[in-house]
Amino acid sequence: MAQFQWSPDRLKRHLDEFARIGTDPGGGITRLSFSKEYEQAADHYANLLSDAGLEVHIDSVGNVVGYKQGKKDTHVLMTGSHLDTVVHGGIFDGTLGALAALEFAWALQDNSIQLEHSIMVVGLAAEEGGLFGGTFGSRAMMGQVNLDDPDLAANLQEAGISMEDIRRAEVDCENITAFLELHIEQGDYLCSRQIPIGIVSGIVGITRIEIEIVGESNHAGTTRMDTRRDAVAAFACLVQKANDIICSRPGLVGTFGVVDVFPNMANIIPGKVCTVLELRHQDRCVIEQVIGQIKAASAEFPKVNMHFKKLIDKPSCQCSVGITECIKGVCENLRIPHTVMASGAGHDANAFAAKVPVGMIFVPSMDGKSHCPDEATEWSDIVSGCQVYFETLLQLDCVLENPLFCADSL
Ligand SMILES: [Zn+2]
Repeated sequence: MAQFQWSPDRLKRHLDEFARIGTDPGGGITRLSFSKEYEQAADHYANLLSDAGLEVHIDSVGNVVGYKQGKKDTHVLMTGSHLDTVVHGGIFDGTLGALAALEFAWALQDNSIQLEHSIMVVGLAAEEGGLFGGTFGSRAMMGQVNLDDPDLAANLQEAGISMEDIRRAEVDCENITAFLELHIEQGDYLCSRQIPIGIVSGIVGITRIEIEIVGESNHAGTTRMDTRRDAVAAFACLVQKANDIICSRPGLVGTFGVVDVFPNMANIIPGKVCTVLELRHQDRCVIEQVIGQIKAASAEFPKVNMHFKKLIDKPSCQCSVGITECIKGVCENLRIPHTVMASGAGHDANAFAAKVPVGMIFVPSMDGKSHCPDEATEWSDIVSGCQVYFETLLQLDCVLENPLFCADSL
């Protein structure tokens, strides 16, 4: 196959342009959805897609959608990433995938290639948590936003959108054969192993458990150590035990990110601790087993009572086996080292997976840093990532019609 010609310089120039939209004086970039900085980025992205020969519109919730007709009306390849950032974020999270998709569109034009599939390039709104929780733009496109959520209604005015706007953003997925996203890893798995490409097998599920530890408040001066029912002391032991259990399971991460102590006074033995344990893993069974183990361990603290309540149980998402195999084949052809891995962070692909076969390609984040001004990726890794990403899109264009592939991937 002839080498697909594209321009790393043009991609670099576009990355530099977007790094200047929402720049913080103290370093980093802040481009929150529904802000004027986001709007500026979305308008700029829409103009660039239009220059690259796509029909473009910005939908009712702020997603930029560009479309280029293929040889067949009935098949659409969707690709892109998000345009919003966190507060004081980096310049690659989301933006790299959105601009690589733009570069693909430019390169199709430069090479005078008309694909079999129509191509739909998306620059997505509100992927980062914010007014509506994460992946809002992609969930709206999939009709996956819970319109009965009271928090949603309360925030609509601030975002400047209506319920009707959310409904109108839904797209017909029937003809979309795949969604492919290039993204930075945001962890140190690839960087620490010096592997340039991560092929994402799936996105981890998230379970949050509220744990209430009830002891007894009493005088901090007069109550002997052996008679105390100190909820914080029990909490400390629980964290130690839970971390040992979590560390024994490969791929599992757990975090006690919320801790409330009652009554939270220096001269009173804490009578109660409320904490939230978040667990993330690709396999829900592992999470369930570990919760069982931690509950069993709680019986070792007879001086307090522990109550467990599940708050959130977000299922993991599996990437399409067909697309994953396709990316693997491309890496082997290009002789680029690669590994298959789960994503610990949520992504728009997660929302799209509800209705469309999805695939993701990761490039390394230097020192695993992301969501901060120091977020960086070696330029050579970006070039490798783009090569794999573009070749995968071209291959998907050829193979997606194969019914065997479709049956496998779905
Ligand atoms: Zn992202």
